[in-house]
Amino acid sequence: MNSRATVTGSGTYGVKALPKIAYGQGSYLFDSDGKRYLDGSGGPAVYCLGHAHPEVNEAIKAQLDRVAHGYRYLFTSDAMEELTEIVNANAGGHFPHMVYVGSGSEAVESCLKIALQYHTARGEKSRRRFISRRRSWHGNTLGALSVSDFKARREAFEGSLLDVAFVSSANAYRLPQGVEGHQLVAYLADELEAQILTIGAQTVAAFIFEPVVGAAGGVVPAPKGYAAAVSAVCRRHGVLVIGDEVMCGSGRTGTFRALEQDGVVPDIMSIAKGLAGGYQPLGAALYSEAIHAVLAAAHGGAMTGHTFTGHTSSCAAGVAVQKIIARDGLLQSVLSRGKTFRQALRTAFADVPEVGDIRGRGFFIGLELVADPLTKTPFPAYASLHADIGRRAFEAGLICYPSTGNVDGTNGDTVILAPPYNASDEELAEIIAILSPVIRDAVVAARRAVALR
Ligand code: PLP
Repeated sequence: MNSRATVTGSGTYGVKALPKIAYGQGSYLFDSDGKRYLDGSGGPAVYCLGHAHPEVNEAIKAQLDRVAHGYRYLFTSDAMEELTEIVNANAGGHFPHMVYVGSGSEAVESCLKIALQYHTARGEKSRRRFISRRRSWHGNTLGALSVSDFKARREAFEGSLLDVAFVSSANAYRLPQGVEGHQLVAYLADELEAQILTIGAQTVAAFIFEPVVGAAGGVVPAPKGYAAAVSAVCRRHGVLVIGDEVMCGSGRTGTFRALEQDGVVPDIMSIAKGLAGGYQPLGAALYSEAIHAVLAAAHGGAMTGHTFTGHTSSCAAGVAVQKIIARDGLLQSVLSRGKTFRQALRTAFADVPEVGDIRGRGFFIGLELVADPLTKTPFPAYASLHADIGRRAFEAGLICYPSTGNVDGTNGDTVILAPPYNASDEELAEIIAILSPVIRDAVVAARRAVALR
């Protein structure tokens, strides 16, 4: 046999051969050739405490020395119990119940299942359908993919996905035709209500949305009042509200729950990436006391979870990460420094009209590139501007998160920045210093590609 084992990778955006990771140190990663990368996006908005934090590593090692994993049907653990207390407290006491999982997709999958189980338990088994939004991303398992509107990632699986209804995204930069900014929230709430009534409220289990859209939109915070308005619509029709905070939650926006800033508490919510900061795989589906009471009465509890649910060393990592964030006051820092960082980015790109929008909350920031800032027309997809920015930045020693398709599923170029919460002001300035020429050069190259076509 002359074959080599391979692993699948993706998102290489034109980097010819992936370098081999050697080690990390704070906000920096180093490859096996000794090249240094500033992690300006915390990978895919995960590494909220940077890399190789000695206290987190010590906590994981200490747990491993005792036991790696106590199987959930046989044991509870100090780490899992402590993390549950911390997460519930961080989330304002609204979610005393949770199912731990190993990824964001599994967290979303569990949220969907909890919603279905809830309606079954209440004798409303007709409520099987989900409503989601255009330009959203909820994950790669079949259920999570079904509620996602990310064309390139869905295409190969169409035909086997759940029958999900989609409504417009909530994007103040790209308003629906004929709608003005001040009309947006009412327009979207009406659209959701009309969709519920069209497919029949008695068939709808839940509405799922990202409070701040991540990969599919290039960081799109919902306009003020949106979350409250759509939640009110859902409640009127017995439809559960699922907040997908896998990317925007766990403090990324400067509050543990992104929806805290909207004054909204969903019925069910997913978290993952920043929960254990990538030190171990960890996510969770959180649900309210009211949901729990229904599930417990009918079936004894939530009927979801996996072999590694509540994995002990993952929970120990989560405890350590969350304790450091609290001890070091990192959420307040993210909230206030996020504002100044966005402002600094706006100043740095004020003379680049192709940087059409710089938006976000806390340390969750999106830059949207446009060919024409007046009409907001994107560069054509064949120019592959987002990928070119990602590749040039990577080569220049900066990790950012480029994404595409935010305009119509195919066209659109965005770059996400999501630095570690404990990145220094000098490191934030370095992100801008590297990104600034990268974006300028990539825009020139994109214009050339269009002219040559
Ligand atoms: N939900 C949201 C909002 C996400 O951004 C992601 C991943 O980017 C997921 C779910 C899926 O998470 P994972 O890749 O950990 O499965």
